[in-house]
Amino acid sequence: MKSDVEISQEAKMAPITTITERLGISDDDLEQYGKYKAKVNFKSENAHNKGKLILVTSINPTAAGEGKTTVTIGLGDALTALHKKVALALREPSLGPVMGMKGGATGGGYAQVVPMEDINLHFTGDFDALTEAHNTLSALIDNHIQHGNQLNIDPRQITWKRVLDVNDRELRQVVVGLGGRTSGVPRQDGFDITVASELMAILCLSTSLQDLKKRISKILIGYTYDRKPVYVSDLHVEGALTLLLKDAIKPNLVQTLEQTPAFIHGGPFANIAHGCNSILATQAALTYGDYAITEAGFGSDLGAEKFMDIVTPRLDKVPDCVVVVATVRALKLNGGADKHHLDTEDLTALKKGVVNLKRHVEGMQQYGKPVIVAINKFASDSESELSYLSNYVSTQLGVTGEMINSWAEGGKGGIELAKKVIAASENTDEFHELYDHQNSTIMEKMHAIVTKIYGGANVELSTKAKNQLKRIEKLGYGNLPVCMAKTQYSFTDNVKELGAPENFTIHVSDLQLKLGAGFVVALTGKILTMPGLPSHPAALNMDIDENGRITGLF
Ligand code: ADP
Ligand code: MG
Repeated sequence: MKSDVEISQEAKMAPITTITERLGISDDDLEQYGKYKAKVNFKSENAHNKGKLILVTSINPTAAGEGKTTVTIGLGDALTALHKKVALALREPSLGPVMGMKGGATGGGYAQVVPMEDINLHFTGDFDALTEAHNTLSALIDNHIQHGNQLNIDPRQITWKRVLDVNDRELRQVVVGLGGRTSGVPRQDGFDITVASELMAILCLSTSLQDLKKRISKILIGYTYDRKPVYVSDLHVEGALTLLLKDAIKPNLVQTLEQTPAFIHGGPFANIAHGCNSILATQAALTYGDYAITEAGFGSDLGAEKFMDIVTPRLDKVPDCVVVVATVRALKLNGGADKHHLDTEDLTALKKGVVNLKRHVEGMQQYGKPVIVAINKFASDSESELSYLSNYVSTQLGVTGEMINSWAEGGKGGIELAKKVIAASENTDEFHELYDHQNSTIMEKMHAIVTKIYGGANVELSTKAKNQLKRIEKLGYGNLPVCMAKTQYSFTDNVKELGAPENFTIHVSDLQLKLGAGFVVALTGKILTMPGLPSHPAALNMDIDENGRITGLF
């Protein structure tokens, strides 16, 4: 069995100019990064959102992931094989998981985007630009305090932390400014991973450079000694921060192994951020493709909920069809199977675990759009497990289900699913909003998400979060949408509660005002915004030889 990187190295890539020609993108709108990667000068005002939008999400995953990216790519290649004009919209990988545990974000097997080494390792530098811009703001804040602190910023109330695109638990809490008078004003600070930066969310929600600048100017960086909010606009640095992102805001274009175009742009994680690629990338895919397929991170409780409630109002387009990816493996895990034995047939665990899929499907059905279950086939799945699951989907859930085998077969393995997706997206049913965006409070929005999507009963705020909510309301932001930060493994805020728990309470420990992004982040349970590395990080398997040939990148 070949590894992902070996398969990708054998790919017959078309020059990126061939891909853009097929899409109808003019050379003037192209900035090439070598032969196979480009940035596209896509203008939101030229978007027409005419294409069909397919949203790919999943059940609660195992630690390895359930194959949303792999299915998105396979489905795209299948639509290409059916002579449809299709474009994908995906997130850029973060180096944290690349070097850590989960691996890359470029698909797997025969359903990959290429060149995968480049995409997984720095790509066109967007995350580096975001990291630099984010930390430039940190430096400017501390510099302001060092030089007299005219704005009267309270160093103990700075909410703008620093970021790095590395899983580094050592940096969660740090003290900066040590070293005496000339080395700054000491204060407690901390690092988040770049994908949790508000700038990442802003980049993904911005529709133009001007919009980006406006959003950056609104970022709340902390409070004064007399508890007044301080914004980036008070520091007058929105121009400087925006120019650092002048290229990062342009969507990147690459291709799949079967030459389906893929816009890959932005990459907030869905457990700690909003989990969807940039609006510009999705708009580009919708404009140039008749079918645009996009992936929202982790399970439908995280990325897809955020796509529906945070992204679609700004995208001005709702999905025409939702594909929920399920695997026998993850359902067995949800049914109580040992995570080390998911390769062994276990119908008992599978029968217990399917309730997880049921809740994800029912959650998505509330938005009123057709839901299809894609069963992502693994070689270890037994025939009886697969047939039980197919049967459960059609008879018990009453929705369309189809197997997909693109990991092993590429687009060919996704033809039947693609046909069903095409048929389903002809449907013109109405879109139902989960909550009243204008008039409901933050508490009501969280309650709607917890009860309607997670299947829980209550939301409980910590004392700290209660005080934060009061402050948010006092500042006049009591009706913002909420971006929940929650573990991807469970509907609850406890990683160990698998399946479809009932009557549970979601505990909100922290409410963070992200005014540039335009939402409030609610941290639940023990979620951390700077991950750590596992005992055997993926980095230990990687190497590069004297000819630049990379091995061990999954
Ligand atoms: P997600 O996007 O849901 O996190 P990915 O598509 O990134 O998941 O897949 C996670 C991992 O599982 C990748 O290493 C991928 O190669 C592997 N994978 C996905 N589908 C299959 C499959 N059907 N058989 C074997 N491995 C798979
Ligand atoms: Mg993925």
